[in-house]
Amino acid sequence: MAEGKPIESAQPRARRSAQARIVWGPRVVTVGGDAPVRVQSMTNTDTADVIGTAVQVKELAQAGSEVVRITVNTPEAAQAVPHVREQLDRMGIDVPLIGDFHYNGHTLLTQYPACAEALSKYRINPGNVGKGDKHDRQFSQMIEAAMRWDKPVRIGVNWGSLDQELLAQMMDDNSRRAQPWDAKQVMYEALISSALQSAARAEELGMAHEQILLSCKVSGVQDLIAVYRELAKRTDHALHLGLTEAGMATKGTVASATALSILLQEGIGDTIRVSLTPQPGESRTQEVVIASEILQALGLRIFVPSVTACPGCGRTTSTTFQELAKQIDDFLRLQMPVWRKQYPGVEQLKVAVMGCIVNGPGESKHADIGISLPGTGEAPAAPVFIDGEKRLTLRGEGIATEFQALVENYIRKRFGAEQTA
Ligand code: SF4
Repeated sequence: MAEGKPIESAQPRARRSAQARIVWGPRVVTVGGDAPVRVQSMTNTDTADVIGTAVQVKELAQAGSEVVRITVNTPEAAQAVPHVREQLDRMGIDVPLIGDFHYNGHTLLTQYPACAEALSKYRINPGNVGKGDKHDRQFSQMIEAAMRWDKPVRIGVNWGSLDQELLAQMMDDNSRRAQPWDAKQVMYEALISSALQSAARAEELGMAHEQILLSCKVSGVQDLIAVYRELAKRTDHALHLGLTEAGMATKGTVASATALSILLQEGIGDTIRVSLTPQPGESRTQEVVIASEILQALGLRIFVPSVTACPGCGRTTSTTFQELAKQIDDFLRLQMPVWRKQYPGVEQLKVAVMGCIVNGPGESKHADIGISLPGTGEAPAAPVFIDGEKRLTLRGEGIATEFQALVENYIRKRFGAEQTA
């Protein structure tokens, strides 16, 4: 054994940030400070479609989204917002709604007070609030609406809609430098300046410091890391973190996970969104699942029981263990909305589904309940390990059903009322 200090386990660092409160009725979602990193998502329905929007918000909330953003882009959408809220309240869904405003937010928030009241937070894009002196006036109107209704705001800068006047000014200033920065560095600076200057202006108007969240989204992984590292150095506002326009499927998932994980490990990011383009027919909830998995993989949050499964290899004779791993994973996720209330702490559960004797028994012993399926040349038997001990062996066609029943039974005993009986 090597001499010296023991190896410390890796831990995400902590960043001190101001704490915002996003409120709907008795439901309060704190963001920043000592609050856990929050998961958020955004609908892709036409907000004027009250039922369609409410149903999608419900799906996102039930998948684990702690706040949900909706587009508010037209008078019809603004008129629909209080009805979406009422519909959600009737369905027992108290997730706070965030209004996403561009171009006409000042008008909509002023002319539709019921919309302003029903939302729990406003997203303001300083690149899309008008040009010239209109910019300042319209930005002020939005901040005044937020103060009137006591709502926090996110000043959400995006490189696709960066304030062009600010960027042009900064490019001019840069050209007069003895050694001009490259265009990308000026763009980074413009993103951060737009967010910080807007936040300072909101505070001058009377907005409470902690009720202002910031984001500076870009679509490149290294760009996002560079911008957020610098932003986090310069401010203690709570930060909303996400890779904008991440893309589809594997690319979008990997890019988001890569960028967000690096920053979260450094303590940067108080709330996250995975901006995934859904595949045709894919549920919108996929972005919530991925955001939750990122936080769970980093050990920052625990949302669902974890299923450890090996990748399989030449020792696996069939797809049985893949099917069983998927079946158990799907089963646990499906049950979670009910189990969360019925079995407090169930999200801590660890299940292992392994393909052969090489790592199967070892990995299964590390889990709360695990099964090691037979590989090539092994006897057709699947030992089951519970709390580190081999308890029984399953055989035959019904292994999947029997193992699922064992998992359910374990959960009932360990996390249900029976545990105290
Ligand atoms: S546990 Fe067995 S089947 Fe699974 S990857 Fe390892 S050697 Fe292959």
